[in-house]
Amino acid sequence: MKQAPIIWTNVLLFSITTLVALIGVPWYALTVGFGWSELIATIVCLGYCGMSITAGYHRLWAHKTYEAHPLLQWIYAIGGAFALQNSALHWSADHRVHHRHVDNNDKDPYSAGRGFWYSHIGWMLRDYPGVEKPDYNNARDLQKNPIVMWQHRNYLWLTVLTNFGIPLLLGLFTGNVLGMLLSAGVLRLVLSHHFTFFINSLAHIWGKQPYTDQNSARDNGLLALLTYGEGYHNFHHIFESDYRNGIKWYQFDPTKWFIKAASWLGLTSNLRTVPEERIEQAKAKMQLLRAREQVKLRPNAEQLLQLLEHEYEILSARMQDYYQLKKQILLQRKEQLMAQYQAVDFKHRYLEFKQHLQQQQQHWQRLVTAFS
Ligand SMILES: [Zn+2]
Ligand SMILES: [Zn+2]
Repeated sequence: MKQAPIIWTNVLLFSITTLVALIGVPWYALTVGFGWSELIATIVCLGYCGMSITAGYHRLWAHKTYEAHPLLQWIYAIGGAFALQNSALHWSADHRVHHRHVDNNDKDPYSAGRGFWYSHIGWMLRDYPGVEKPDYNNARDLQKNPIVMWQHRNYLWLTVLTNFGIPLLLGLFTGNVLGMLLSAGVLRLVLSHHFTFFINSLAHIWGKQPYTDQNSARDNGLLALLTYGEGYHNFHHIFESDYRNGIKWYQFDPTKWFIKAASWLGLTSNLRTVPEERIEQAKAKMQLLRAREQVKLRPNAEQLLQLLEHEYEILSARMQDYYQLKKQILLQRKEQLMAQYQAVDFKHRYLEFKQHLQQQQQHWQRLVTAFS
């Protein structure tokens, strides 16, 4: 079978940056050496690129899990170009296709079903036929966003300006231009690329599936360390509208922490979360499916299966009771608050009306006295 045509721009870009990172950076480290300023700048730039992709491209634009102040959107737009992962419009359109047709080798642009290499980087190296190409029809909302469209139109020069300009400026500032171009420039870009690419490859191969086995996405705490929290990919694929990926407090999800902290400053709002009830139900259902498979191997399978189903039904009923009541309590609390607010408002209006009446009574008395 004929191979798909190579996309030379991408092949050259990935090859050159990888070679420089693998040869140029160690060579410079051994012969000249990097200082603290290069190390800190690389880490900060790496974080800026990574978070622009996870908090901006992914959770804000691709999935609309919250709303962001224009200032923050500008910061993401610049950081996304710095990360060199295509425009936010293109990235999000691709990503929405990935979620819609996950694991479908003919439609998912980076289907894990085609192996590690393909889902990690291979999909960008050749113009594969058949794979659904984004026509941006699935991103009409983003086409109405002036910041996203500005970045899309100006993407090329923005990438050049950020990828050369930022390390160059930092180098001029610290007095070591070559060192900074190699570290905060090339090494940062290569690391940033692969950390993100791991979400499409490893996060669909390696890890646990606590919420669903309907797709290949996995939860992996180790991967979350490199991907700013995106390693909890099994949760993300079933509940993509949730602004969190790691939902437990101990799960490493700096993207979630950032979005939450930004809400206290008024930079983000309407943070969307899936009701706890749906999460617990999904988890219990997966546990039931797994336990069923195990029980089938036991000698008294029939009896154990019955027990399992019976206990699962009770668990479901208890869950329903608990969450129903919780919902009612929350509703009641809201109503109480409203009533309190109304009481304050009534009192305020009562005093105001009383004063108006007294004023008018005095005025009236003066008037009728004048005519009597
Ligand atoms: Zn996603
Ligand atoms: Zn995925």
